[in-house]
Amino acid sequence: MSCDCGETHHPNANYYVSVRDGPRFDLLAGPFDDHAIALAWVDRATAAANDVWPWSHFYAFGTVAMQSTYDKPGKLNERLAIAARDQWPPTKGT
Ligand SMILES: [Zn+2]
Repeated sequence: MSCDCGETHHPNANYYVSVRDGPRFDLLAGPFDDHAIALAWVDRATAAANDVWPWSHFYAFGTVAMQSTYDKPGKLNERLAIAARDQWPPTKGT
């Protein structure tokens, strides 16, 4: 499945907003069905992470495609009012 980001992803991948700090890696928001949706959430997830973890300003935020078998909720889903498989723009909150 070719994507707006220019890459080709596995058709059944689950997309997350991710954060990396050296060897640590966390999934902040997701899963989303579409990479574009995950990309659209990056700014908001980054802002939420910076609220929760002030030192996270130095972390690297991005998106990641996980296998379809992985669909655990992102760590900040609740804070971001993300329901699983939510779309962009978010349906809840502002
Ligand atoms: Zn993509």
